[in-house]
Amino acid sequence: MKDKKLRIIPLGGLGEVGKNMMVYEYGENILIVDTGLMFPENDMLGIDYIIPDFQYLVDKSQWVRGIVITHGHEDHTGAIAHVLEQINAPIYATPLTRGLVELKLSRGGQLGKAQLNTVQAGSSIQLGPFQVELFHVCHSIPDGVGLGITTPAGLVVHSGDYKFDHTPVDGWPTDYAKLAELAGRGVLALLADSTNADRPGWTPSEKVLDAAFRDVFRNAQGRIIVASFASLISRMQQVGNAAEQFGRKMAFAGASMVENAKMARNLGYLDLPEELLVSADQALKMNPKEVVLMCTGTQGEPTSIMGRLSTGSNRQFDIVPGDTVVLSSHPIPGNEESVYRTINRLFRRGAKVIYENIAPVHVSGHASQEEMKLLLHLVKPKYFIPIHGELRHLHQHADIARQIGIPEDHVSVIENGQVVEFQNSEMRLGERIPGGYVFVDGTRVGEVGRSVVREREALARDGFVLVNLTLDRDTCNLREEPEIITRGFIYTRNGDDLLDATRKLVKETIMSGDGGLQQDLEQTVKSFLYDRTKRRPMVFVTLSRT
Ligand SMILES: [Zn+2]
Ligand SMILES: [Zn+2]
Repeated sequence: MKDKKLRIIPLGGLGEVGKNMMVYEYGENILIVDTGLMFPENDMLGIDYIIPDFQYLVDKSQWVRGIVITHGHEDHTGAIAHVLEQINAPIYATPLTRGLVELKLSRGGQLGKAQLNTVQAGSSIQLGPFQVELFHVCHSIPDGVGLGITTPAGLVVHSGDYKFDHTPVDGWPTDYAKLAELAGRGVLALLADSTNADRPGWTPSEKVLDAAFRDVFRNAQGRIIVASFASLISRMQQVGNAAEQFGRKMAFAGASMVENAKMARNLGYLDLPEELLVSADQALKMNPKEVVLMCTGTQGEPTSIMGRLSTGSNRQFDIVPGDTVVLSSHPIPGNEESVYRTINRLFRRGAKVIYENIAPVHVSGHASQEEMKLLLHLVKPKYFIPIHGELRHLHQHADIARQIGIPEDHVSVIENGQVVEFQNSEMRLGERIPGGYVFVDGTRVGEVGRSVVREREALARDGFVLVNLTLDRDTCNLREEPEIITRGFIYTRNGDDLLDATRKLVKETIMSGDGGLQQDLEQTVKSFLYDRTKRRPMVFVTLSRT
């Protein structure tokens, strides 16, 4: 046993913010930590979300002993349904995380076949050769855990998303004692969250939001609408507390908000008295000064309630002048543009919009630099691997580790797909496996590849040109003038001349006999148009023979 290697294989979350998924492999045993999704960047047209490429696991699915989910955020849970379609393994999660995973699976009709197990922070589970000890961490959602993973090759600490909040909403700080206890046993490697590695100092406590929300409630003249993530249970609690204090009723709008709040209340993670809550329908009939609504849509997603409110296309209700809208969130990198566009639209509709830059209505759930140093000091790992973050965050986190004295060659900055191996207490890089994207577009998984996204980009940028040819069945000569249709293709100067010239080119090419193949003709037209306009529209040639 001793000469076997521990292999750590990042399938997602290293080199990006989102779709976190880590694999621990020892012999013919695999432990999966988190199965997250990532929301697409603006230039990935028509893609709903992205999940990790976990083909590596599909080939070894019989080795998977278990899946441990650290907390209930989408970037740690969102791919679970897709993973379960390929891998049959038990899932372990704390009660709230399990509740959120259950709701996700039941929406897809998969709850029946999933093997879900509830585990508590402070407990320990044996999964093949991995002994996994869960310890509580503060984050922007209750019931988050980090993991102490004892393997035959040594003890690894996996932080999950964490911060060191001394006054969290649920009054349950990160388990310092457990971290120190793990350190006492000697930690081979620490894998820790890097999301805020470029933020100096300490992340403020969630407590500071209470004052900001009180200000909002004190000054609001009409309805208050708070947008947040549907999984941000602690934010629901804080809004509820302010509502109670200022005599407003609270309503949740949107299926995921309503379901998550109901589940969290049933499990005791959300303490909102029955008389505080009304349905969204009831709230909309009440005096605007007496209600606060919570909904989703902080990232400028056009299909979310906030997105629809900003464009006046929401079915249930509209923004009216006098509304105060609070965006209690931080734009995920890449979403800034659409978030600010949504804010502008909300202002145009007469709302007063309060967001992070104006008032502290959001604090991060992730550790800043001083907390990262504290974690490194508490855990005292021999080796360090920064996880959860874009490459710039990972490098910054590596720097922090060097600052506190971890030798340069004991730190590995790696991206998705780069295997790291531990043997005889030594770390070295292993092979590279695919660590890319799988696009999910509607219900289609993986069918939309990079090339489809590239085509959509080309269509969006330069439009298309359709060349319709009618040929004589016998002679293959043109029977009619080529018909040219364009959409979204811009050719300002001498537009008609350009189309005439294209028509002429097509005719000549066919007559010279070179245009027999549609693809060749498409290529000829494409380069002709590029020469004249410096644009690259999609070009399609269709043939009919009569
Ligand atoms: Zn998180
Ligand atoms: Zn996360």
